[in-house]
Amino acid sequence: MNSYFFQAALLPDGWHQRVRAVVSEGRFIEVVAETEPQAGDQHLGVVIPAMPNGHSHVFQRAMAGLAEHRSTDAAAGQDSFWTWRERMYQLANELDHDGLYQVAKACYQEMRETGYAAVCEFHYLHRRLDDPSDYHSHSLALLQAAAEVGLPITLLPVLYAFAGVGDQPLNPLQQRFGLSVEEYLDLHHRIKPQLQAEQHLGICFHSIRAVNQQQMKAVIEALPNDTPIHIHIAEQQAEVEQSLAHYGQRPVAWLLDQFAVDRRWNLVHATHLDAAEVEHIADSGAVAVLCPLTEANLGDGIFPMPAFKQLKGLWAIGSDSHVEIQPQQELKMLEYSQRLLQQQRNVCCSEAQPHVGTWQWLQAVQGGNQACGFAAAGIRVGALSGVVALLGHEPARRAEQLLDAWIFSDRVSIKSHRL
Ligand SMILES: [Zn+2]
Repeated sequence: MNSYFFQAALLPDGWHQRVRAVVSEGRFIEVVAETEPQAGDQHLGVVIPAMPNGHSHVFQRAMAGLAEHRSTDAAAGQDSFWTWRERMYQLANELDHDGLYQVAKACYQEMRETGYAAVCEFHYLHRRLDDPSDYHSHSLALLQAAAEVGLPITLLPVLYAFAGVGDQPLNPLQQRFGLSVEEYLDLHHRIKPQLQAEQHLGICFHSIRAVNQQQMKAVIEALPNDTPIHIHIAEQQAEVEQSLAHYGQRPVAWLLDQFAVDRRWNLVHATHLDAAEVEHIADSGAVAVLCPLTEANLGDGIFPMPAFKQLKGLWAIGSDSHVEIQPQQELKMLEYSQRLLQQQRNVCCSEAQPHVGTWQWLQAVQGGNQACGFAAAGIRVGALSGVVALLGHEPARRAEQLLDAWIFSDRVSIKSHRL
């Protein structure tokens, strides 16, 4: 058991001064604000909770920064998400078991150091290069990598069965991702007994392009009803058009029509939404998992935050393709994309919480915990005890200004701690 004293700390209801916390086995067991330090307390200055990472494809870290030149594929025409995906598939077909483990270990270590509390790993690189009949050892390698660097993880093995809406067969470069429903359930049953401390398992469907309604129903019915469910949805306009052509409905409208979408569900990207879809997601209690840096890098589009925020929709952030691993940069991109679109300033905030950094951080921690399916972060009793100390140059600066300045300027640095 260890005790800490913070000059200021961001608790779930906002900033508090002189906060004392007691930690046992990696979780907060006591948090008291507006109090005095006691003998033996370690002093940490101004702290915020670490941030759950709601969406990761860890292997894509190996191509970060390497797809920033125009494709030579003449047929591709303009570069887009779809031409990027071809390059990503090439990488996915070169990585072997050891390569995946090494990139995961380095990437998870960076997440810890840059302020992430835990990761939701959306894992579809199932089949080994040297033995395609083995579709479980990569999941174990990811769990091992996370355990070795001490990053809590919600592993989301992905069901990926088709190349496109209407049960189109997987193309040659997608073969390593493919599982039947039977194989998917077998994978869950094999992995579950091997989970270590602070490791969780969730349900995951790649997208409505890659999995059909019957498969999703079969998986949800067969697995425990208290695990989070993740799915990519409406990331690209082309997906919306394919869904309209096949189902006569937009992707999110179709999903909400077919399934009892509730707080278990996590809709990754959810970029292209009409007004009714925005309202229904917010009402459902599902989390919109936004990946602002990757979405900008891939030219996906801009999430309709003002309408979603007005309806008190829940959201999280994820570093997705890991073009950068910096939670504050995700939040900066989220706010700046809204400023550019709306031609306004200070969009991601509220009357009650006018500081953008504070509003964003608390919202994303709350949504991120729901995405993880456990209390991965938060300076409160029961949550894992990861914190980020804000190290400013001006001691007189107020805590909420320090957090804004970390996100929007380069005048504040940080140090991550797992207490
Ligand atoms: Zn993704």
